[in-house]
This record gives sequence, structure tokens and C-alpha cells, in this order.
Amino acid sequence: MTVERLLPGTALTAYPPVEKWDDWHEYDAKQWPRRVEKRYMLVPTICFNCEAACGLLAWIDKDTLSVRKFEGNPLHPASRGRNCAKGPATINQINDPERILYPLRRSGGRGEGQWKRVTWDQVLDEIGGRIRKAFLEGRRNEVMYHVGRPGHERTMDRILKAWGIDGHNSHTNVCSASARLGYALWTGYDRPSPDHANARFILLLSSHLESGHYFNPHAQRIIDGKLAGAKLAVMDPRLSNTASLADYWLPTYPGSEAAVLLAMAKIILDEGLADLDHLEKWTNWREWMEERHPGVEPRFGSFVAELKAHYQEFTPEFASAESGVAKEQIVLVARLIGRARGAFASHVWRGSASGNVGGWQVARALQFLTVLTASVGTPGGTSPHAWNKYKPVFWKEPPPQKDWNELLFPKEWPLSHYEMSFLLPHFLKEGRGRLDVYFTRVYNPVWTNPDGMTWMEVLRDESKIGLHAALTPTWNETAIFADFVLPMGLAGERYDIQSQETHSGRWVSFRQPVLRAARERMGESFRFTYESNPGEVWEEDEFWIELSWRIDPDGALGIRSWFESPFRPGEKLTVQEYYRWIFENAVPGLPEAAAKDGLTPFDYMGRKGAFLIEDEVRELHKAHVAAPPNATRDPRSGVVRVLGKAVGVEIEGEVVAGFPTPSRKLEIFSKTLSEWGWPEEALPGYVRSHVHRREMDASKGELVLVPTFRLPTLIHTRSGNTKYLNEISHRNPLWISPQDARRLGIATNDLVRVTTEIGYFVNRAWVTEGIAPDVVACSHHMGRWRLREGEGSRWSTARVALTRKSETGYLLRQVEALAPFQSSDPDSSRIWWSDGGVHQNLTFAVHPDPVSGMHCWHQKVVVRKAPSGDRYGDVFVDTAKSMETYRKWLAMARPGPGPGGLRRPLWLDRPVRPADETFFLK
Ligand code: SF4
Repeated sequence: MTVERLLPGTALTAYPPVEKWDDWHEYDAKQWPRRVEKRYMLVPTICFNCEAACGLLAWIDKDTLSVRKFEGNPLHPASRGRNCAKGPATINQINDPERILYPLRRSGGRGEGQWKRVTWDQVLDEIGGRIRKAFLEGRRNEVMYHVGRPGHERTMDRILKAWGIDGHNSHTNVCSASARLGYALWTGYDRPSPDHANARFILLLSSHLESGHYFNPHAQRIIDGKLAGAKLAVMDPRLSNTASLADYWLPTYPGSEAAVLLAMAKIILDEGLADLDHLEKWTNWREWMEERHPGVEPRFGSFVAELKAHYQEFTPEFASAESGVAKEQIVLVARLIGRARGAFASHVWRGSASGNVGGWQVARALQFLTVLTASVGTPGGTSPHAWNKYKPVFWKEPPPQKDWNELLFPKEWPLSHYEMSFLLPHFLKEGRGRLDVYFTRVYNPVWTNPDGMTWMEVLRDESKIGLHAALTPTWNETAIFADFVLPMGLAGERYDIQSQETHSGRWVSFRQPVLRAARERMGESFRFTYESNPGEVWEEDEFWIELSWRIDPDGALGIRSWFESPFRPGEKLTVQEYYRWIFENAVPGLPEAAAKDGLTPFDYMGRKGAFLIEDEVRELHKAHVAAPPNATRDPRSGVVRVLGKAVGVEIEGEVVAGFPTPSRKLEIFSKTLSEWGWPEEALPGYVRSHVHRREMDASKGELVLVPTFRLPTLIHTRSGNTKYLNEISHRNPLWISPQDARRLGIATNDLVRVTTEIGYFVNRAWVTEGIAPDVVACSHHMGRWRLREGEGSRWSTARVALTRKSETGYLLRQVEALAPFQSSDPDSSRIWWSDGGVHQNLTFAVHPDPVSGMHCWHQKVVVRKAPSGDRYGDVFVDTAKSMETYRKWLAMARPGPGPGGLRRPLWLDRPVRPADETFFLK
């Protein structure tokens, strides 16, 4: 990849040539019209402001040794030199005058806002000692790491396995777990990787051109695809920026998406547009037929006939009635998808999959179209994510842990795709366990999760959480309830490896502390990265290595050895050695590419920031597998096993890799769902949502609130201290259609009260044709708050008062709007906006999907003009009602164990997978 390739046929380059990155000269724009030359070193790193992992180049002023700006890295195979607004805004985060620079320990009661600066040694000794004690006393399940933004590949998996604990918790069940389960049931891989650039037809159930998953890399390729002639359809009740650029906008009523997708599948089947040969070869249709007609030899022709009969009810008329989309449009788009055979690219991420009960069936229904059109892994089709993602291996892999933590994977949700993370406070309130040491890492559940007031109640309670350490680059609404607030590095202040399934290639990228890298090139050396970071901002890998040594100083617990150098036996691992070993030994092709440039692999990654391992990765399921002599073949399914472990499947006489599913094929029929209590959902289906029209009480004026969309310019929590981004976006009014607004007597800018099951919030209305009738929408990311000065960024937070109205009733009220303030950044005195938006997630009760465990975000709400006394930004919540709603949803689950006394199917993966024996209930 070269700059020239990005700009073919032109002598102009958008980026300084890579050979000049060590010493780039240009005039200082701020000195114009004087011609004052500045000297820069350009050091690559990786953006940390969303999951896409785009490349950045830090422009380091060689005279002041400070970062002047961040721009794109043209050598990055996914982002190709381009970024969204959040990438360059990294400079604001680094220079934020209010950032946390030193480790803090609370000096008063938890949550009372009294802090004192401590040393890192104190931090490591206290936390390490406490964890050691828990381990010595056999309380391994009382140590938990809860991550919001991960941003590294397998690092924490290795650390937690080295500690021998089942202690990984994540944010995924408020994000994407539902869609992931839908994909995993089909293919064994839990995410799609669409090849947008080569597609003939693209269908998005998301807003990928502005904010969806892998937003910038995907957006570029969707536009590439469109420029090459692909048509784009978008299913979304909201006229997003993406929908506005689509050829076809299908404004589906929330939760009806699977009905529309299945109607499209029916049209493709009925009109002979399906690739039946692909269906016969690559799906487990036989298993379904054998279950329906035991003892009868399955015939493919009968299967097709029964499949058509199964989906008979999904007529365009039915789908239209469910969704509100015209049936002609459903038919038209279905035919275009069918005719795109082999080149149909699609994605569903949050939206419908994360909003509704049964959202995982939306992903299954979408993948059904991919399978029917034989677009699995083809050019222009949709691959499983793992084919396009790199995962490192290590010189020593710790064994899987021997514990199963029921605070993470409780028996009620045996198929939950990720940890039941948003129910942690409810579980602790119920007495299911306690935590002795709880890490939140770039994670702000009080503000991000539903039912944040319950989080506040539990975080305050030291009998439930003994010690809370918040690892965070910024103040947030959760960190104020910590015992330790530990500042961690931003994109240009830490090391990480990242790789994402952004297109049909496979790449690896390197996040690095740019000032350390630059100063090392200039001849300096550092023991720890914080010596080159602002204040004492710690590099996180170094934190975990040091902490692991404090937990096990003499190695007697068997932990320390995992954190010893692969190059200097018995000595402490350094962070650079960790990455050096991976780059030298575990990235195919990198050592050779580096040698060609006369560099070590570590220096190559440090100088270029990314490496394309392979391009055009396609149809890996068809890869030939050389079966060893001891392999066995199941005569009915064709599955080939070695020592009981499936390694492939025979297709037309050849053993090929297939998919990591029980049948090694694409599972149109899920025996797993059938055996684990959900036989009625064993085929791709349509689950009527908790906000389905028939659940709405028209007499009460109920509407559906879509709270899931995000703004392209903001990040959940971390944009709080980015001045550029907050200047662009600082309001989140309630979108309401003209019909509903008329009926309710509401006009744009009116103050409205939005009432949920457990409380209400007060916002301003925005009357717009951009939202379907019967639906209202409000973006998240907004409504940041601070209870006290010094505990929240003044670029984005309103000062609030939290008042207890009853034993379980809380009112959060804005008492000071945003305003200019004095700081070392003169821009802080120029803040011209006073609005920071309104928070809504506090007013949402938890809605765990009974199968995937995902929080179902959409809300049944009543909207009316705000009564007198209400103020903009008011939020009221009753946590007793939240617990009631939690119990109602808990009762909908179908608990395990499943066949064979299993907690969870052995074939279904889970994060930081423990030993197989822990899957069995004792
Ligand atoms: S899409 Fe934007 S925020 Fe996300 S990694 Fe790329 S530049 Fe950063």
C-alpha cells in the first residue's frame, strides 16, 4: 500500500511520504503570513475513540516534543488515511486541561467526592494485596474486570487466565450480543464481514455510513461499492444520514424487521431466485427433515417444499402490515437482493437487533438472505468476521480457568452470548454473590447502561463491592463511586494490538505511546511509559504486569511466571518485549516485510503502524482439509473427526473445513435451540417484540422510543472532554413525527415529559418527517452530568443535584448549564453553547432477552407536554419499579441445564472460555 495507490494518476499526495516521516518540514499555519518552518516527526498509532481501530499519525513537534495534531495514517489497510471527526479530536483528549493525571484514592465515604493523590506503588500494593488474599482464601470469583471499550486483542484474556479466574465482564450485552448470537447459530462465528466494495446489493439494518460498526472503514467501502454500481437499501424507522443516501429507505416499525426479511426470503424462494445448489450443499437441511420425519430418508426437494410452506405466512402483505413499509417496496428490494446472487453484502448491528426481544432472530433472518443468495464469503458477499480478523498468540498460553462465575453466566440464560453484564447490580442485590475487587475499565455503566440508579445504589454499598478501581482516561459518572481512580493512556499514550473485520483482507495494527516512540528514536530510554506521558498516566499493560507481580511476588501462586520475559528467563516482562515477541513470531509475513525494509518487526510496526497480512480472503469454508489416517467420518452428516473433535466435513467427496457449528455446515436449523428449550425458534423466525403494535395501549397514547442511535461525532463516554466534538454536537431532542406531534399538541422546542416503566425524562421535541409515525427517537451520548466540581468535564457536563424523593425514588435535576470556564486552554473561556443534552438511559428498566440475554433497548413510552414544575433535563427514577421489571423479565427466561447436565452447549463459545469440564453442572 502506498500513498500513490490512494491517489492514482496524480502527482499530488495527501500525506508526507513515509521516508520523510522522521523529519518532516512545513510552514506553521498559525504564523502566516510569515514563513516559519516547523519540524515534525510523524509517529503512527491507532484511534481509541471507537471499535474501528483506524490509523492515526501523531505530528510531534520536534522542538517542543509535544503532539501538535493527529491525522490519518495512509498506510493503514482499513482506514486508508481517512478518519471521522473523532480521530483528530484525540488531540483534545490529550490536552484537556481537566484530565486526570495522577492516581487518586478516595479519602471520604464512597461517592462523597473527597480524593487524595497517591503513588502508583500504593495503588499496586493495596489492590495486589487484596487480590492475593482473595486468591489464597479461594475467593477467585470475587475478582472481576468489567470492560467498556476493549481495544486490544486477547491481552486481558491472557491476563485473566494467568490469574486463573472467570472474571471477565464486558459491555457487549448492552451493545451487540443479540446479533452475535444470531450469526453464531448459523455459522459458529458471531459477526458478519461484508465485502461492501464489491457488492451488487447492500442492505443495512444500521447507519453504517455515519456511525455503525467499523463506521469509517465500512463507510468508505459502501461508497466504493455504490460508485461501482451497487444499490443500497437501509431499514430504519429513522431517516438517518445513511438512509438519506440510500437508493431504498424502508422505515420499518421497530421490531418488525425480521418479518420483512423473511418475506424477502419467501419471495426469493418462490420466484426461483434462490441458489438451491448452495442451499443443498452447505446447509444442514437434512437435520431438520430428520427431526420432522424420523425414519424417513430426507429428500432435498421435499425440504424446499416444506421450507416454502414454513414461511407461507410471510407474505408481502403481512410484512407490510407489520412494518408499515409498502408491500411493493418489499417485493422490489427482495428481487434486487435475489438478483444480486453471490454479491449481497449486509450488516445489522445495534438498531433492530439490540432494540427488541428476539433481536437475534433479525440477524438470523438477514443471514438467511445471504445463504439463499449464495453470498457467503464470496466477492461482494458477506463472510464470517473471523476470516478477516487477526488474533495474536503468545509464547506461553495460560490454561483455561477452572471456575465458572454465575454472576457472569447464570443458569437462567444458558445461551446468553456474552456475560449478563447489565444485570450485575441486580444479581448483587439479590445476594447471588459479592465482589471483593471490581475493576471498571473505560466503562461507565451508571450512565451507559439501563437502570443506572440501581448501579449507583450497588456501587455505593461496600458490603456488595469491597473495592472498586476505575481505570479511565476521563472522569465519568461511574468513576465517582470508585475507591481508586486510575488514569490510563489515550490513543497516543499506550500500547495495543488491534485488528478488525473491516473488509475482505486481514490486517494487524499497532497502537503505541507516540511521545515515547519519538523520544526513543531520538536516543532516550524509558523504564515505564508513564515517564513520557503527561503527569503519571500509566500504560495499561505495564499496570497489569506490575499488578500480577504484586499478587504473586515469589511465584508461589503460579501467576508470576506468565509475566516473565520470553527473552530474559525469570525476569519481569516489559511491555515492549510483549509486542516484540508477537511481531517476531506470530504475524505471518511481517518478519519478511520488515527485513526487506531493513527493520526489525517491532520497528516496522512502530514506524508504519499497520501490516496487511493477506488480502482477498474468501470462502475459507471450502478450504481442503487433509484428514489424517485416524480421522473418522460420520456417514449421515459427513462430519470428519479426529479424536472426537470435528475438523471438517465431506462435501461431494472432498473433505473441506466448513464452519465451526455442530454440523460443520450453515445451520438453517438449530438443533441447539431445539434442545435447549426453544424448538419453536429453531429456524430463522420472527419474534414479536415487546414493543410490537399489539403491546401498545392506544388509549394511553403509548409510542415506541428508539434510544439506540448514536451521533457520528460523539463517543459514549470518552468524547466528554473533546472540545471539537462537543462544539459540533451538544443536543439530543426527541424526534417526533408531525402526525404524533399534532395529536399530542406538541411543537418543535416544546418541553415534553417522556414516561417509561420506571420513571421519566424531560426533553425538547423536534417535529420531523424523518421519523416514522408511532415512533419517537432520542440519541444517546448526551446528557452528561457532574455532581460536584472536579468530577466531570465542563466541556460537556451540566452540574446536577441528585435528590432522594423516597426510599427508592430519585430526581436528577440540572442546576447549572454549561458555561465558559477559565483553564490553561483559552478555548474553555469561549464555550458558546449552554446545552449538553438530556440523559435517558437512567429511566430504562432492564430487559434481558430470554435467549441471547441482550438488553432490549426499545421502550414503550408515553409522551406529553411537560407539566409545570418540570425542567429541561429532569430525570426521575424509582428503583423499586426497576427490580419489579427485572423480575418480570427474569421469569421469561428458560433456565438450564441443557442436555447432559450442561450449563451451556459445549460448541457455543464464550469470552475467556473456561475449561470444558466447567460447562457441566456438578
Ligand atoms: S471511525 Fe472515527 S472514532 Fe472510529 S476508529 Fe475511525 S477515526 Fe476513530
